[in-house]
Amino acid sequence: MQPIGLLIEFKSGHIKPANFGMATAARAENRQLVALMVDAPADDDKAALEAYGVTRIVNIHTDSNQWNPAMHAAAVVAAMQENGITTLIGLTSPAGRELLPRVAAQLDAPLVMDCIEIDLDDHRVKTSQFSGKTIATIAMTGTHFIYGMRANVIAPLEAPAAAEVIDFSYTANHPSGFEVIETRTDGSGSQYLAESDIIISGGRGLKNAENFKLIFDCARHLNAAVGASRVAVDNGWVPYAMQVGQTGVKVNPKVYMAVGISGSVQHFAGMKTAKTIIAINTDANAPIMAHCDYYAVGDLFDILPALEKALASMTR
Ligand SMILES: Cc1cc2nc3c(=O)[nH]c(=O)nc-3n(C[C@H](O)[C@H](O)[C@H](O)COP(=O)(O)OP(=O)(O)OC[C@H]3O[C@@H](n4cnc5c(N)ncnc54)[C@H](O)[C@@H]3O)c2cc1C
Repeated sequence: MQPIGLLIEFKSGHIKPANFGMATAARAENRQLVALMVDAPADDDKAALEAYGVTRIVNIHTDSNQWNPAMHAAAVVAAMQENGITTLIGLTSPAGRELLPRVAAQLDAPLVMDCIEIDLDDHRVKTSQFSGKTIATIAMTGTHFIYGMRANVIAPLEAPAAAEVIDFSYTANHPSGFEVIETRTDGSGSQYLAESDIIISGGRGLKNAENFKLIFDCARHLNAAVGASRVAVDNGWVPYAMQVGQTGVKVNPKVYMAVGISGSVQHFAGMKTAKTIIAINTDANAPIMAHCDYYAVGDLFDILPALEKALASMTR
């Protein structure tokens, strides 16, 4: 059976947990899972990959000392060819959005991003469309197949295997035409939303940028990411990267808390698959109240400080 390539991503020097859900989704009897790691920051991830069924780890070494999606995509393509990989799965993350389309273009392969289900034998995927109102099943044809999975749609399940480790060096033989001049963070301190298990989002009810501190203070105790409604983003209170919804990030956390958010269809389009939805709102008739698992009717300026205090005493 053809080996399946997994494009592994890192955060703070280690493999992002969302990669393990991806490995779980790709796993099948007699299938070889090959982890492709570009300029991996640590050597101690072998055991973690083996725990989720990876049977080969390809450490791709480039001579680039900075993020270079053009060059890194070329390195991934070279490693795929060297290892006989015709199917590659990555995450629909900021890095995945930069790398996977480039890999697909170089291989002239079909690409589907934001997959919520993948059938690797029939090359069929499911992805949500029209703000999540319909699920499309897309059949792909070709010799190579590239998939971007939505993070957290598959819960990671361990299935231990033994993996061989291979080093693969890639040197570009022509300039990539890509140079990073400067890197800036958005300053929000928020984790990447789509990969977070817990998200607390704020909306118009927060009233201004400064009041988002109330949300960040609670989020810190829960290791949660902070999101926002479009109103909060359009008012310039928080950066666009934090917007959840139809025209923002689509998230799938274990817990989603909506604070001072009414629950418009456009907001719901980005978070309705959350396992548990909690709302805090002064209006008992706000749409979100009818579509959540738990709610508190009350003023967020009373509730959030009390919540922060309670969380602080629990995590002390
Ligand atoms: C094409 C299109 C795309 C869009 N895409 C998105 C998208 O991606 N994401 C998105 O979020 N929106 C999107 N929108 C906008 C969307 O229609 C709504 O306008 C928006 O979601 C409303 O944001 P909100 O819930 O923060 O504000 P509101 O709807 O004004 O709700 C504010 C809520 O806060 C509550 N509140 C007020 N004060 C307090 C308090 N002190 N304590 C507790 N609760 C309080 C109120 O009762 C109210 O329910 C889109 C719209 C269009 C047309």
